[in-house]
Amino acid sequence: MIIREAKFVMSNSRVEQCPPPTLPEYAFIGRSNVGKSSLINMLTGQNGLAKTSSLPGKTQLINHFLINDQWFLVDLPGYGYAKVSKESRAQWGKMINYYLRKRENLACVFVLIDSRHAPLAPDLEFIEMLGTEGIPFVLVFTKADKMSGSRAHQNVTSYLAKLQETWDELPRHFVTSAAEKTGRDEILNFIEDVNR
Ligand code: GDP
Repeated sequence: MIIREAKFVMSNSRVEQCPPPTLPEYAFIGRSNVGKSSLINMLTGQNGLAKTSSLPGKTQLINHFLINDQWFLVDLPGYGYAKVSKESRAQWGKMINYYLRKRENLACVFVLIDSRHAPLAPDLEFIEMLGTEGIPFVLVFTKADKMSGSRAHQNVTSYLAKLQETWDELPRHFVTSAAEKTGRDEILNFIEDVNR
């Protein structure tokens, strides 16, 4: 897919205020600092479209972008911020759960995982919730350039092995590097296929 246009539409905290659900929607989520903004900017080819997080935890809103007038890309607030209060964490949970369950045009959730890390409880819990709720999702392993190719491959394989302890069927996954611009075509082609 060629990205001809990517524009910011709105930020809000309520599903009811999201744009009318007339186009398929793809949401991106992950732990703070996982590389979500960098990935979104790489996918859209627009540096600065999603704000890279100099202040973790700052954006607790659902951010909609319109791509090629054909689909929505949604930047969801991340989880796992160390400095966030219990109260805002609970608020985050409510907003995200509501969004994931109610957003009728949600085609797929991209769950971002730092490819250097061993499986972490918040990610596993989130994946578990998506699976249990039947919400379509795929995994995106980020920052693959930070390791040698074989090390990245090893990490991804052991991550998937961990998931296999719980799930019979593994989710589709992508390995990306925003720094080296890898994984872009694979993700965009996947979205194009789902949109068909
Ligand atoms: P966010 O908090 O998930 O939106 O993460 P950011 O996109 O702001 O990235 C967090 C940090 O990781 C920044 O310092 C980025 O420059 C860095 N980063 C993000 N993606 C990559 C990548 O693919 N490779 C490398 N080497 N660094 C990355």
